[in-house]
Amino acid sequence: MNIVLTTLNAKYIHTNLAIRCLRAYVEPEHQVEMVEYTIKDPSINIVTDLFKYKPDVIGFSCYIWNIEETIKVIGMLKKIKPELKIMIGGPEVSYDVMYWMERLQDVDYIVIGEGEETFKQLLDQLKSGETDFTNIHGLAYRTEDQKAVVNPQRNKLNLQEAPSPFRFEEDLPHLSKRVTYIETSRGCPFSCQFCLSSIEVGVRYFNKEKVKEDIRFLMKNGAKTIKFVDRTFNISRSYAMEMFQFLIDEHLPGTVFQFEITADIMRPEVIEFLNENAPTGLFRFEIGVQSTNDATNELVMRKQNFQKLTRTVSMVKNGGKIDQHLDLIAGLPEEDYDSFKKTFNDVFELRPEELQLGFLKMLRGTGLRIRAEQHQYVYMDHSPYEILKNNVLSFEEISKIKQVEDVLEKYWNDHRMDYTVEYLVTEVFATPFDFFQEFGLYWDKMGWGRIGHQLEDLFQRLWNFLSFWSEENRSIIHSLMKLDYLRGQKYKPRKPWWDDTLIKEERSELYRKILASPSLLGKAFEELQLSEKDIYKHTVLEMISFDLNHFLQLGEIKEKPSLLLAYFDPKDQQTKLFSTPIKYLEEVNV
Ligand code: SF4
Repeated sequence: MNIVLTTLNAKYIHTNLAIRCLRAYVEPEHQVEMVEYTIKDPSINIVTDLFKYKPDVIGFSCYIWNIEETIKVIGMLKKIKPELKIMIGGPEVSYDVMYWMERLQDVDYIVIGEGEETFKQLLDQLKSGETDFTNIHGLAYRTEDQKAVVNPQRNKLNLQEAPSPFRFEEDLPHLSKRVTYIETSRGCPFSCQFCLSSIEVGVRYFNKEKVKEDIRFLMKNGAKTIKFVDRTFNISRSYAMEMFQFLIDEHLPGTVFQFEITADIMRPEVIEFLNENAPTGLFRFEIGVQSTNDATNELVMRKQNFQKLTRTVSMVKNGGKIDQHLDLIAGLPEEDYDSFKKTFNDVFELRPEELQLGFLKMLRGTGLRIRAEQHQYVYMDHSPYEILKNNVLSFEEISKIKQVEDVLEKYWNDHRMDYTVEYLVTEVFATPFDFFQEFGLYWDKMGWGRIGHQLEDLFQRLWNFLSFWSEENRSIIHSLMKLDYLRGQKYKPRKPWWDDTLIKEERSELYRKILASPSLLGKAFEELQLSEKDIYKHTVLEMISFDLNHFLQLGEIKEKPSLLLAYFDPKDQQTKLFSTPIKYLEEVNV
């Protein structure tokens, strides 16, 4: 019997943990092939490839991001080989199981919930030719007369005994290029009504020592990005501390570990420990904030203390060692447009390295979907089941928030213009949300969402918007944008996005003055001892309207026409910025 486990990942760099757990669990009794595709692969290519394995059974790991593409593949497979047994599993098909059995007539089996033991029993039985599946808990199947049957759920697995899903030879060459997902626990103690993890009761842990062995093995074989899928990594403080200590002690250079943490339960001592001991960039935290509206959180049974969350995020940020990615969800119960705006501003205030806006998905099996009527939710029939409107948020308002998301990604999360954005959200617009919303509206109106962008386009487009928006502070904003652009370059840019402010003769004269008096640009510049050739080849000169040194030291804008010199050091490919007030240059005679 040839058995294949497969899935369609969202991106090539992702790997699927579920099929590895299943395979590890059924070996050595059953030999299983494992193959992964992406949702971008044409279905026909996937089907052609799968048939190369001459499969008798194919199992698909299903999620909201791949279910519809998976269904297309299954349909083709069954047309070509009707006797092929198709098994599906995963969070997307583990709820409303009868609906899936009725909708997907090509599917023979659904493995419900945690799949290891069910999958093993199913394979044992298929191998032996036994056709009575009534005793396999956690399985949905069809009787000989094609009637769908859903068996009762099964007891949870003893994770302490689970085998390692990371010892497959064929995975090793890819470890350095892809994200490795690892779990040290299953389940979440919280009850957020929009989340599938709230359904399972209790948290179970894998064997700690085996997990550590796995991590050592993964690092030794080149894994660079290791993401813990534990729903709340820090639910047990002692456990999290032990793992943090282990990772700090034994990590190999270049490895990054990502965790989903619950920020408001993180004790200050833990953060102090990390700030003191963790190497910069070793850890990255993902923190779901979702909403700062207490009434909304209460309605979704989400206990969250925003004050404590703020303390954690601020302490981590001040430590400067760990990047943080914060998530928000638009569309939660009773969170209208203004309330969401407040949530956004509350969270943006923390200046997370990344802020992601998601839109509520009415996932099958969640409490919120079951009670959708109460809040008049209207949502997509098919995955990803995103909401279209509810009693307090119209479709137009959701569309507006999507415009915010679009520009937030490009202008904040990518960190190309931090000085500029900081100035805009604090000095020019009433609130950060107002900036992103106004810009997003303009972006959409100009049709820029439908076309690609070079870096220069992004600067030019923001400048276009600002020209349209206001006459105030334009020279400061333009200077900040030039500064952001130049400091983000590794080499001298051939054609910056702005029009030259200096004519050739002026530029030459400035260069002559700098060569004559390099100390004007400061001691560090003088010590570089750049030759005339270096200066012409590797620097850019620009006029800015404020005192750069004062700004870099204190973060304050003091208006003073200045010359900015950006030196693109060919040795370390770092941009070094120097500046001097124009009036000092005027005094130099050459
Ligand atoms: S949203 Fe997070 S904390 Fe809430 S139930 Fe889901 S995993 Fe647990």
